[in-house]
Amino acid sequence: MCDYCVQHGAGKRWYLNARNLSKELAQSDLVRTFAEQYFSEIVPEGPDGFSDKISRVARPVLPDERKRVENRYRKYLHHQVVTTSEVIEILNLCNTQTEEHQRSVVRFPCICRYSALGKEKTLHCFGIAFTDIYTRRFPKYLGGRHEYLDPTEAIEIVTKMAEEESVVHAVSAVGVPYIGMLCNCDMNVCHPYLHRLRLGISEPFHKGHYVTTVDEKKCVGCGECEQACPFGAIQVDSRSGIARVNIELCYGCGVCSRICPEQALESEKELRSSDF
Ligand code: SF4
Ligand code: SF4
Repeated sequence: MCDYCVQHGAGKRWYLNARNLSKELAQSDLVRTFAEQYFSEIVPEGPDGFSDKISRVARPVLPDERKRVENRYRKYLHHQVVTTSEVIEILNLCNTQTEEHQRSVVRFPCICRYSALGKEKTLHCFGIAFTDIYTRRFPKYLGGRHEYLDPTEAIEIVTKMAEEESVVHAVSAVGVPYIGMLCNCDMNVCHPYLHRLRLGISEPFHKGHYVTTVDEKKCVGCGECEQACPFGAIQVDSRSGIARVNIELCYGCGVCSRICPEQALESEKELRSSDF
């Protein structure tokens, strides 16, 4: 079990605890204060304010930058990796939380994709449950390109996205423990991930609950999983010619199992056994 579950899960995984998607929590002082600060101070200009972010990510590390960036992420971004099936469970849970089903998912521009790939490829992140209470107050953040979905439509989109793109799903708390957002990250352009690589920080991605396993009978040692893993957790063993997963490094994102041409990897079967 992870630390978030211990504190906020009530015996479940914390992002499957209905209280953490409830209107009552969304309207609490904690979430209200967090959302006001996050949307108005941290990302005030929405996607248009982030156009030079990639060049900023690429420039040399400045004095104290590592600490500053890590602290900022620790305060504002709590991304925990989840599998596609878990995303679907969360979206189904949204369905039972609000009578306004058609507004319970707002799909809005992913700032990272927007700055790197252009606005056409940008509608990938979801505000869920009651997050729209806040996002609609900050139209710049939505960039005028948002759309409302009911959870069933969102599930279809996520399923297709997982099949066709190399995404890493992550729940993102809008003031822990309120599960306000679902990110579908492209690690080639994801700012927090690139910051993490560049600065050697552990924030803001937290490990998911699943770890990937290898079916040795099916693996042919092609190495595609090794190339694709964003966390450097899988390697083809030079002696056996079979892929091996380092469970300590694996975040359970499922990128490897979706890419394996032999269906030799399983990312939604085995739960992490130790606390994390
Ligand atoms: S992609 Fe699949 S077949 Fe290729 S090395 Fe990895 S597990 Fe083995
Ligand atoms: S081994 Fe697979 S599931 Fe684990 S972090 Fe790498 S790509 Fe993700």
